[in-house]
Amino acid sequence: MAVDLHTHTIRSDGTTTPTQNVELAASAGLRGLAVTDHDTLAGWDEADAACRARGLAFVPGVELSTELAGRSVHLLGYWVDPDDRPLVDECARLREERRDRAGRILERLALHGVDIDPQRVAMRAGGAPIGRPHVAAAMVDAGVVASVREAFDVWLHDGGPAYVPKHAVAPADGVRLLRGAGGAVVLAHPGLSSRDAPVDERLLDELVAAGLDGVEADHAGHEPDVADRWRELARERELVATGSSDFHGATKDVALGARTTSLDVVESLRRRTS
Ligand code: AMP
Ligand code: ZN
Ligand code: FE
Ligand code: FE
Repeated sequence: MAVDLHTHTIRSDGTTTPTQNVELAASAGLRGLAVTDHDTLAGWDEADAACRARGLAFVPGVELSTELAGRSVHLLGYWVDPDDRPLVDECARLREERRDRAGRILERLALHGVDIDPQRVAMRAGGAPIGRPHVAAAMVDAGVVASVREAFDVWLHDGGPAYVPKHAVAPADGVRLLRGAGGAVVLAHPGLSSRDAPVDERLLDELVAAGLDGVEADHAGHEPDVADRWRELARERELVATGSSDFHGATKDVALGARTTSLDVVESLRRRTS
């Protein structure tokens, strides 16, 4: 009785449609799934309809980009009001920002002698707001790197030679924004930002003070000891600990349903919205 609480679609930087995510969830034997595209709610209607047809529970979500000291911190907002003006405006601003930023990333690459045709990136994005995985895929298409992973490891990682921050809101403001929209807020993949990790206990406590509801302890990218540590940090603060795949289709080597959250934990998250 499990739910994958973090999946992406072609509406952001995934490569599958919302309907395909639902099909994959059904094949994996899940009870439900969340669609959590970056800075957009555009995949909700299709996913909701497909879930109804399949008898799965749909958890509407969004992965909001925030920024701290030039590094990205991602927040997952669940059951937010799709008509909440401040949230809708911030998502629109972020999507706008992504357009300029893609150009600036390509400029940085060019400075390092790596020339990527903007058309290639636009083709990979297919109209969705442009994310680094689209740039990475275009770099693979152009033959300048062998894999998306290499594109990130060498060029695009946070603080990397072609990294351009998004000028998003601060993490605590992001928590307040999502809570203000009536959502439950989970800190995404807190253990992923390796080296100069921005997510330490101090930031966590600041987010808790701002209204954070949970942490994504069991993210597919977390080693077991990292997941254990975040589960413990969550327990100490009476936060909900979630698990998810952060499925991105073909851009990442992780299957939908690779990590999940039990239905009763989803329910306890939901209760925190009221
Ligand atoms: P953006 O929203 O454009 O900053 O891109 C964020 C997305 O890039 C995340 O959702 C991940 O899918 C991907 N990403 C970020 N860092 C890495 C990394 N080091 N390796 C692979 N993918 C990454
Ligand atoms: Zn992504
Ligand atoms: Fe993320
Ligand atoms: Fe994600």
